[in-house]
Amino acid sequence: MAPPADQPPGPAAGLPSPVPSGHPPGLLTLFLTEMWERLGYYGMRALLVLFMVDAIAHGGLGLSDVTATAIYGLYTAAVYLAALPGGWVADQWLGARRSVWCGGVAIASGYFLLAVPRTDTFYLGLLAVVIGSGLLKPNISALVGQLYPEGGARRDAGFTWFYMGINVGAALGPLLCSTVGQRFGWRWGFATAGLGMLLGLLQLRWTGHRLGTAGLPPPATECHPRRVQRVLLVAGLVFTALIVALWTGWIEVDPVTVARGTTYAIVLIALAYFGAAFGCFGLSAVERRRLGIIVVLFLAAALFWAGFEQTGSTFNLFADRYTRRQIAALSWTIPAGYFQSLGAVFVIVLAPLMAALWVRLAARRLDPAAPVKFALGLLLLASGFAVMIRAAQWVAAGAHVGPVWLVTTYFLHSVAELCLSPVGLSTVTQLAPRRLVSQMLGVWFLASSLGNLLAGLIAGGFRAEAVAAFPAQYLRITLILAAGGLVLLALAPTMVRRMRQRENGVSPRTDTALPAGD
Ligand code: GLN
Repeated sequence: MAPPADQPPGPAAGLPSPVPSGHPPGLLTLFLTEMWERLGYYGMRALLVLFMVDAIAHGGLGLSDVTATAIYGLYTAAVYLAALPGGWVADQWLGARRSVWCGGVAIASGYFLLAVPRTDTFYLGLLAVVIGSGLLKPNISALVGQLYPEGGARRDAGFTWFYMGINVGAALGPLLCSTVGQRFGWRWGFATAGLGMLLGLLQLRWTGHRLGTAGLPPPATECHPRRVQRVLLVAGLVFTALIVALWTGWIEVDPVTVARGTTYAIVLIALAYFGAAFGCFGLSAVERRRLGIIVVLFLAAALFWAGFEQTGSTFNLFADRYTRRQIAALSWTIPAGYFQSLGAVFVIVLAPLMAALWVRLAARRLDPAAPVKFALGLLLLASGFAVMIRAAQWVAAGAHVGPVWLVTTYFLHSVAELCLSPVGLSTVTQLAPRRLVSQMLGVWFLASSLGNLLAGLIAGGFRAEAVAAFPAQYLRITLILAAGGLVLLALAPTMVRRMRQRENGVSPRTDTALPAGD
């Protein structure tokens, strides 16, 4: 029988579940919801650039590489940018749980709009997915944090399993949507993504009671629905005016210019948000110091995602155009989109191993603190790009390369991701003041947004007609990432000291290790 909504969730004993027992039953609900959402997100993303550059006669949009990668960068940036208002709406009005539900509904509608063979509904569909993801993505992570009010190692383990859910979806999505998209047409690939989100919503409806009291709307003193509705109304009107102006051709935009402008806008938004948080949120001295750490982690994460998010753009095109994908024995060509699943498969396989490594290190008191893991993430990402320098040299010489190059790069990038991404989620939920957790997760995803935009702009610099420049371009990325990693490594001791500073005699945990699958 379903537990009453006001009862705290108990252990997940007896549930047939990919999540081990000893965790709150709500974790499985969130694992599956995020799995289905990510299945749609990564599945649709694997098709997006290929669909946009495909000829109109083939059912594509017939756009140039530069325009398509800029739109791609803008879209992925917008998805994560929307997380900041999405987190704010939850903190101030809806609560995390209702936000996740509304977000899921908007996302599913968005994918189905993409499946309609019209260009205007295509852009409307992207917009719906952006709004929906803004509501769902930060709040589902906040919900995971709320399932573990005691924090500590169990919460870290919870985030590790949650991250596995993300990657199960990310692994299956491109396989499923590429197969359907390439066999039956791009639009059916988008519809498959919609179906995934729909299944996620049904699952959430049936098992939502397992969340207990987590993510209910904030108490009356902290709930400001009027304020939120007013802001949303103004934002909605401005947005509608903008869309009408674009639609009627009253203003014309070049996606590359918009992507550049949006990069500056996101930097300004981040500065304004952090400025307001330091100045006007009434934070205590310790809370401010912890916010300072979040700022540094934010910058490191933005740099990280700018490199990492080449997956859907330059690496996708690299797989499509310069990688030998024919398997003669099977008379089969591996669809380029399949390579998009590699990173996620590596994460699923590597997460428990990395977890075991952290635990072993912890037993010898050698477990690196979060900033060191972040630095490691940047350095490993740089090493993945170093591999691409060699691959690009072959391509520049006119050869097609074997899949081993991309596979090696994806492997290194997955290890890097595990050093940074779940660690970042867990650290932000620990360092953020309790009443601001959803917003701070929004800020965390703002770094992804900035990174995705930069990634799109970097990708635009890779021109099919200038393959000779590829090795030098990959070299530049490698050096920038390595420099970022080294700077963070130098800052780490000071950051760790500040993270350990106490408030009311309670020290936040700073060793956000990925525990073995406990
Ligand atoms: N791969 C993770 C996810 O899809 C992290 C993405 C990000 O923060 N950029 O949730």
